[in-house]
Amino acid sequence: MSSSSASVAACTPLPVLGRDVEVPLVTGEKVVYAALDYAASAPALQRVWDDVAAYAPYYGSVHRGAGYLSQLSTDLFEQSRAAVAEFLDLREGDQVVFTRATTDSLNLLASVLPAGTAVFAFETEHHASLLPWRRAGLTVDYLRAPRSPRQAVAALEEALRGTEGPRLVCVTGASNVTGEIWPVAELAEVAHRHGARIVLDAAQLAPHHRVSVRELDVDWVAFSGHKLYAPFGAGVLAGRQDWLDAAEPYLAGGGASRSVAREADGSVVVEWHQGAARHEAGSPNVIGAYAIASACRALTEAGLDTLAAREQELLARLRAGLAEVPEVKVLSLFGDGHPQVGVLSFVVSGWNSSHFAAALSAEYGIGVRDGLFCAHPLVRHLLGAEEEAPSECGAPEGRDGERSLNAIRVSFGAGTPTEHVDRFVTAVKELVSDGARWSYRTEAGRCVPDTRIHAA
Ligand code: PMP
Repeated sequence: MSSSSASVAACTPLPVLGRDVEVPLVTGEKVVYAALDYAASAPALQRVWDDVAAYAPYYGSVHRGAGYLSQLSTDLFEQSRAAVAEFLDLREGDQVVFTRATTDSLNLLASVLPAGTAVFAFETEHHASLLPWRRAGLTVDYLRAPRSPRQAVAALEEALRGTEGPRLVCVTGASNVTGEIWPVAELAEVAHRHGARIVLDAAQLAPHHRVSVRELDVDWVAFSGHKLYAPFGAGVLAGRQDWLDAAEPYLAGGGASRSVAREADGSVVVEWHQGAARHEAGSPNVIGAYAIASACRALTEAGLDTLAAREQELLARLRAGLAEVPEVKVLSLFGDGHPQVGVLSFVVSGWNSSHFAAALSAEYGIGVRDGLFCAHPLVRHLLGAEEEAPSECGAPEGRDGERSLNAIRVSFGAGTPTEHVDRFVTAVKELVSDGARWSYRTEAGRCVPDTRIHAA
């Protein structure tokens, strides 16, 4: 671990909001919160917050407002679109649609697929990329969890062979459970060779890795602002315009309609916009879009490759620390050494994962996540468990080598100081060797310290 300390120390984390926030421990002491749940939502970049604060007084109603601030806001909204297009390295003619988040983006895409589209997705996807396709007019083929990237490519090849008509492949860029990076360009090549299209769920990839739509040759990409250091309620669906323009608007309403006329026979005829506006009915989230654009610029200026290299050093430090604890089993689909972003899930033998995560929070001020991470089939596959996760956390289960039914996830990114990773590794070691110092019980489905009984 000492060899990596020098280079990590040389490269500082990007300033994020909440970096100095102190939280109470169960003992009553206070410590600076270690936010290690970036895969769920990353803290806002200070730069994004500052940009939003500087713009806020000039905020005005966008689109068709006659006033100065309306026009300024409309310009900034459209410039935000252009900044996202540049960040994603879109092709000529590609469109950026602002949505609420990745889930919304993929549901939007599902709503515009031509009738009869066959969708192909691995069962290992996050629910946001697994479920939107289960709707009338579409069929879904869920491919079994592959054991290697090569097997994933072969499985897709096999699934697409001989198929015809409109088809869409949906693939995640980096798993929200294992952090493993998927062979997106290779899958895109297979999809296109068979005449299918492909959408990339970049919710976990974009915050950690350069995403070039042009180089990966994917048809669409979706991501969320709140995982990209811009938590203002906006997300993105970007890519090919033709299917978007051919479909009914995702939401019907103002902004999506160019003209609405009442005919002599009493009917109402609507002419919908083409382009992004068609699927952005209602008043758009200008601040959300502006914040995403600010994050895109900030990450680009800091250097996505530099940030990724720093993150890899933190990951190596984390993995080396966890490797010293034989009770810790890191979850992986593709095996050790496969490229991964700063997301890692594990189980600890003899521990209920909810209990472990609760102790990390209550006794060390460390925020991680426990559960099945909205990827139930994947986590169950990795744990070799088909049953429901247990609801009680108080009694550690699995002490006799029984399997765990849920997992613990630690995730980090551009704002994470080395100290947070070190504190986490120390906490894991202490909890495993000495046990929790407090007792815990389940309250409203959550594992919480039992402040009535002190276990020590
Ligand atoms: N895809 C992946 C890979 C994710 O990790 C998540 C969020 N955990 C989503 C999609 C959904 O993102 P959101 O909740 O922002 O819609």
